Amino acid sequence: MTDGGFDQETAFSLLADETRVRIIKELGNATVSPDTGIPRLSYVDLKSRMNVRDSGRFNYHLQKLLGNYVAKEESGYRLRWPGMVLYRALVAGLLTSQADLSIDRFSVGTDCHRCGEPVEAHLYETLFRVRCWSCDANYTDIYVPTQGLVGKTPGEKLRTVHRRSRTVLSAMTAGQCPWCANEVAVEIRSGEGTLPSLHDTRDLDVYAIYRCTNCTGFHYLPVSQVLLYHPATMAFYHDHGKDLTEIPKWKLRWAVTDDTTEIRETDPWSFIVRIPLADDEFVAELDDNLDVVDTRAQADHQ
Ligand SMILES: [Zn+2]
Ligand SMILES: [Zn+2]
Repeated sequence: MTDGGFDQETAFSLLADETRVRIIKELGNATVSPDTGIPRLSYVDLKSRMNVRDSGRFNYHLQKLLGNYVAKEESGYRLRWPGMVLYRALVAGLLTSQADLSIDRFSVGTDCHRCGEPVEAHLYETLFRVRCWSCDANYTDIYVPTQGLVGKTPGEKLRTVHRRSRTVLSAMTAGQCPWCANEVAVEIRSGEGTLPSLHDTRDLDVYAIYRCTNCTGFHYLPVSQVLLYHPATMAFYHDHGKDLTEIPKWKLRWAVTDDTTEIRETDPWSFIVRIPLADDEFVAELDDNLDVVDTRAQADHQ
């Protein structure tokens, strides 16, 4: 093993010991901040924070981490970037049991766009879902690190989920994977009554799948939903005194159903999406890549 380089097997095998994981946590806990950057701890400081008696054992495990997760410099030991990624995963609770956080279903204050029953929020393992339990329409299904939800009110949880969803889907619909930074491809599928999910029975005539070409990360969504992340739609809302980025998508019928989407052509795909707001209407034309090729705003769409 050379300093600075490591393969996947080495990376994982290095963590097969509690002492090593604790070393990474202690180095990370040593007040990483914009002021200090990534701090260095001397051997003595680190050992004392670890509260270990067996110097030989401690030293053995510390040496094992060098070059991969930890760097040794004149001023002490510090986390290397992979170590920092691992530290953040640990403190976000990404790798550990989620059983410590349970959230009972609660109403989000919106009625189901299909059946009119209350839409509710729910944490399923690590997925936060905003859906209708009466008709199984699923309006949001997003992975949220549970540490980001602990201690928050229902309203704060919904805002966290909304922001998380926007972050992930803004990146994916722009063609970049939020998890691995690789290219995301879009595929349009005819709905034929079923979505590729046991938890979502929305009857969409057509839907889009955004899929990472590298890490298998994917999301499917109504084709109209790409407009949530498009500057022309944001400008239309802004012109009406509203910040589109602040509105959770489950409140927006046009974004979570295909009720205002018209299939103009099927080969290649082409769509017209109508977005009503106040007395106006925003109309966007999407091509088979779901790029916006034309927009117009018009008054009195009735
Ligand atoms: Zn419903
Ligand atoms: Zn990816």
